[in-house]
Amino acid sequence: MPQEISGLKRIWQFAAPHRGKVILATTYSTLGKIMDVVPEILIGVVIDVIVRGQGSFLAVQFGIADRWTQLLILTIANGFCWIFESLFGYLSALTWRNLSQTIEHEIRVDLYGHVQTLEVAWFEDTTSGGLLSILNDDINQLERFLDGGASSIIVLILNVILVGAVFYASSPLVTLFAFLPIPIIIFGSIQYQRSLKPRYAKVREAVAELSSTINTNLGGITTIKAFTAENREADRITKVSNDYREANVEAIKYSAAFVPLIRMVILSGFTCTLLIGGWLVLHSKMQVGIYSVLVFMTQRLLWPLTGLGETLDQYQRAMASVKRIFDLRSVEPTMPEGTKPLIQPVRGEITLANVSFGYGDGVDILKGIKMDIPAGETHAIVGATGAGKSTVIRLLMRFHDPRSGQVFIDGQDIKKLSYTSLRNCMGYVSQDVFLFHGTVRENIAYGRPDATDQEIEEAAQSAEAHEFILALPEGYDTVVGERGQKLSGGQRQRLSLARAILRDPAILVLDEATSAVDNETEAAIQRSLAHVTKGRTSVVIAHRLSTVRDADRIWVLEAGQVTESGTHNELVLNNGLYAALWRVQTGESIHG
Ligand code: ATP
Ligand code: MG
Repeated sequence: MPQEISGLKRIWQFAAPHRGKVILATTYSTLGKIMDVVPEILIGVVIDVIVRGQGSFLAVQFGIADRWTQLLILTIANGFCWIFESLFGYLSALTWRNLSQTIEHEIRVDLYGHVQTLEVAWFEDTTSGGLLSILNDDINQLERFLDGGASSIIVLILNVILVGAVFYASSPLVTLFAFLPIPIIIFGSIQYQRSLKPRYAKVREAVAELSSTINTNLGGITTIKAFTAENREADRITKVSNDYREANVEAIKYSAAFVPLIRMVILSGFTCTLLIGGWLVLHSKMQVGIYSVLVFMTQRLLWPLTGLGETLDQYQRAMASVKRIFDLRSVEPTMPEGTKPLIQPVRGEITLANVSFGYGDGVDILKGIKMDIPAGETHAIVGATGAGKSTVIRLLMRFHDPRSGQVFIDGQDIKKLSYTSLRNCMGYVSQDVFLFHGTVRENIAYGRPDATDQEIEEAAQSAEAHEFILALPEGYDTVVGERGQKLSGGQRQRLSLARAILRDPAILVLDEATSAVDNETEAAIQRSLAHVTKGRTSVVIAHRLSTVRDADRIWVLEAGQVTESGTHNELVLNNGLYAALWRVQTGESIHG
């Protein structure tokens, strides 16, 4: 239970700025409830008028002798009650539901904002489908409870108080018996719903698994088709969907039995009112009018309690979601952000001092890397696949922190810098380029949304992208499709380069995707590299060595260690790994 209380408390904290609205909504609910109960009393008064006539409550208390007038007055009063009940019902639904939308919206925005502060390593360990299910399904689950559940609990309490007051005024004895089932129902409900809790937790887990599987599959649809794995994947979805269904079936088994059980308890309360009240009337200890009010009121009192089951059901479902929402909310970033800004203008001098690093608990991928990249120079990192080239860059961007050693930019330890300051001075083209679903223009301007069309085109020209963009059906306004899937791999790379250049960064970081380029593209890469690296520090990971032969320095990485470095000519003379790779790539005989 403490967890649930803290779940409710947390929602309440989110609702705190809206407490005025909560009070307003509660007031509407209260007024609506009063208007709901009054007609029942009026029915009793009507019966009183008909049965007792001149001796009726209205005649004696208010001096209205004519029975027809009495009836008219009562009918009009009844009409007003109904109209006001509708009005307050509308206002209360409006206020509660808007309130729940607002709270939900704020939780969603806050949660997304929080998730964005978490470090890259955390995202690598978390499935995006699972996150999606929290940011989407779980928050929607909350809606179902906040929309109706919270107000119905308040209305239920009001109901018991109001009806209880009428009952007590009419006959304390009957009240005792009519109210007898209430504690049983409440206690029973809570016990009952408690047993539902673990079942709903399972339902939430199952839905997360389901959405994560669907998400992964949709992302890999071309691979699925290429390997004709459609049937296998359909089976996999069938399985997780079935798990979800079964988790629900388990919960439904319990939750569906609830109302019928409550019904039986209500029957006992109703029977008591009927019998005891009837006995009192027969022995002239109670007026027929009051008796009829009590019989109607018992219905009013006890039936809404069946709704308690559904409300508690929604509550349990919502709390299972709240737990997941706030568990995610309480994940703390493990790489504290620095506060210092880089001194402007950024020169772009990079130093890696004895940097060692491994992913998670794994082995060291980088071992004691020492690298100096003076401001304004172009340096290349080369080496076999898996040598750790991209990892060096990920440390430079501070997507991860080294296990030991330090990374400096302009002599500042990057751990002490704010992320904005660090990353704003860099233009980064990653190995697996990501484009957003939008136009070519929007994608290039991603790092500088205020750029003019002319600046965008200049950046595209520097990246040797302008020509092919103009050849696209809508030029710069062509929509690239999700993840840029409507463009070729090389075109995506060019766009991503244009995006990096448009920022005019002090440091340009290029993680080249592939060595498999044709001669024309290779020439284009060389031209654009020569162009875009001018006047800034550039770090280029190259698979195609000819593209970096003019670099000021080339670092050769082997199994996480720098084994050689120097200019192209120095390295060729050195006759190490670089010289061997060079000979292979230029087609010279290895022994030649
Ligand atoms: P390539 O030329 O193929 O791009 P690379 O030199 O860029 O290779 P890295 O991406 O730096 O290689 O990877 C170095 C090693 O780190 C590899 O063995 C890889 O399996 C491992 N690795 C890379 N990223 C992760 C990660 N997120 N989690 C765990 N291990 C990783
Ligand atoms: Mg790489």
